[in-house]
Amino acid sequence: MLAHRTSLFKSSGTAAARAAAKAAADAGKEIIDLTAGEIWADLAPTIRDGAIKAIERGVNRYTDTVGLAELREAIAIKVASETGQSWSLEEIAVTAGAKQALFNTALVLFDPGDEVIIPAPYWTTFPAQVLVAGGMPIHIETRQNGYLPRIEDIRNAITSRTRAIVVNTPGNPTGVVYDEATLIGIAGLAIEHDLWVIFDECYGPFTYDGRAHHPIVSLVPEVRSKTVIINAFSKSLALTGWRIGYLAAPKEVISAVKALQSHSTSNPNVIAQYAVLHHLQTGDGSYEAELKSRLIASREAGLEILGDLKSVPFATAMGGFYFYLDLHEVLAAATNGGSPRTADDVVTALLSSAGVAAVSGSAFGDPFGMRLSYGADRDKLELGLRELVVTLNKGI
Ligand code: PLP
Repeated sequence: MLAHRTSLFKSSGTAAARAAAKAAADAGKEIIDLTAGEIWADLAPTIRDGAIKAIERGVNRYTDTVGLAELREAIAIKVASETGQSWSLEEIAVTAGAKQALFNTALVLFDPGDEVIIPAPYWTTFPAQVLVAGGMPIHIETRQNGYLPRIEDIRNAITSRTRAIVVNTPGNPTGVVYDEATLIGIAGLAIEHDLWVIFDECYGPFTYDGRAHHPIVSLVPEVRSKTVIINAFSKSLALTGWRIGYLAAPKEVISAVKALQSHSTSNPNVIAQYAVLHHLQTGDGSYEAELKSRLIASREAGLEILGDLKSVPFATAMGGFYFYLDLHEVLAAATNGGSPRTADDVVTALLSSAGVAAVSGSAFGDPFGMRLSYGADRDKLELGLRELVVTLNKGI
């Protein structure tokens, strides 16, 4: 009865984990929810003011399909300052979050049968969108290399059908931050094999311990004509619900996205657009600085607590706001009625015994990983991580 394409994807694994946590809380259980891909912070005053002013002016109409010209100009200035190159508003499209930017990109770039290289563990939506577009996600493993893809592995995955490489730095779920050499290597492969680079930098401001986020087009300007930059204000301004994202790409891509979006959602919400515009025009960076220092403190507190884990290595959380635990060792000997246990079992056990909600790596193509968000409220985070350490140290 339903279209064949509905068999290609399931509801997002991260959304399912959030729903399980909520169901347990609704059933009266005390839950510490570390599933969310968002930061527990108050709304930025500039966003509030921009939205209120727009409402008071009586704003109520469609805007240009890919966003207000003033907003696209302001975003072009932002991208220019981040990349050190000049950008025009014809190279920017505003979307309902980064998810729509990625979805538009998949639909305008990929034909049925096209292969798209996605390093694993990956954010769950990347392969789902490629599949919806008729393409084929090709995953390469990164765990043995600290979750950073090896250039050789990417090279070996390239075939005559390869159309694109997805680069997500800082990465969800592992927090990996790509170094310059890796990005230069990827850009080289893209140029050599005429591939698109889908460069998702939604967590760009959140890097730690002296690491820096490098836009790939800054390191290798020649790859710009083959790059689609994906970004949003969802994470950087703790604004997930307002749904403003964008893509920065060659004009032909933006024109195709505009035509596509004109038949799907039209413009993103106009009040949210004015709110972000107001922030870009009047923000002094203090909100972003406060958000970041809060994440730095939560990360440090979290790393210290996780340091008590006996047999669970965890990624160093170089960027973003996730801790990513490698459960291979813990699960190696454990069985469940004869079948090997996976991260799903650990997540279920943690929720029922410790009341801590996490996301299983199976949502990210890794049945032995587990993601914990430290965007959560600090007190709850610390409490939840302590419970988790006790539970995992006892053995699952
Ligand atoms: N890209 C990555 C890597 C993400 O982790 C997320 C959200 O979790 C998104 C894109 C989607 O962001 P948005 O809420 O702006 O659609």
